Amino acid sequence: METLTVIDHPLAGHLLTELRDARTAPERFRSLTKRLATVLALEATRNLPWREEAVTTPVTDTTGRRIAGRVVAVPILRAGLGLLTAVTELLPDVEVGYVGLERDESTLQPTSYYLKVPDLTDATVLLLDPMLATGGSAAFAVELLKERGATDLQLVCVVAAPEGVALLGEQHPDVHVITAALDAQLNDVGYIVPGLGDFGDRLFGTF
Ligand code: URA
Repeated sequence: METLTVIDHPLAGHLLTELRDARTAPERFRSLTKRLATVLALEATRNLPWREEAVTTPVTDTTGRRIAGRVVAVPILRAGLGLLTAVTELLPDVEVGYVGLERDESTLQPTSYYLKVPDLTDATVLLLDPMLATGGSAAFAVELLKERGATDLQLVCVVAAPEGVALLGEQHPDVHVITAALDAQLNDVGYIVPGLGDFGDRLFGTF
């Protein structure tokens, strides 16, 4: 399976352009993020298992589909929270876990300060992290979730850098990445270019 899907939809492009705009204030940034996350989540759930189910309409009996598998959404704190509401509204039965990561200043490696997830063994796991930059945090989070039994993982992000896609692809080639854009590169302080700045700061108004 292809490991990267870049959403090619005019609505996604429109929402992303407004997110990129440095003049977009946090309230609007949150609302745009939620709308774009709905588009991303629809793509991320394209292959969910389903079963046929009988249904009686006001006109006749017919058959329809019902989602048959468990879905667990796991936002990486804190920016991943911006993508969560769209997922819980789209999939009311979704289970939610959380992972908090920080960088150990002596080793520069990511470490986890918080990890709370339900059983992941038979679930489709949607890891939510809006900016796939170096890929270090995403790859580490995937490792933690695999240790907890995840075997079917998708990373839902807003913008990806080629460096992050490459690292995740090397370390976890089974993880499918869904993004609204594949940008040009990282700059020398680790921001995605052109990117949209610090997602968490723009989401939560902490500048
Ligand atoms: N995280 C962000 O929020 N923005 C970037 O550009 C890179 C990482």
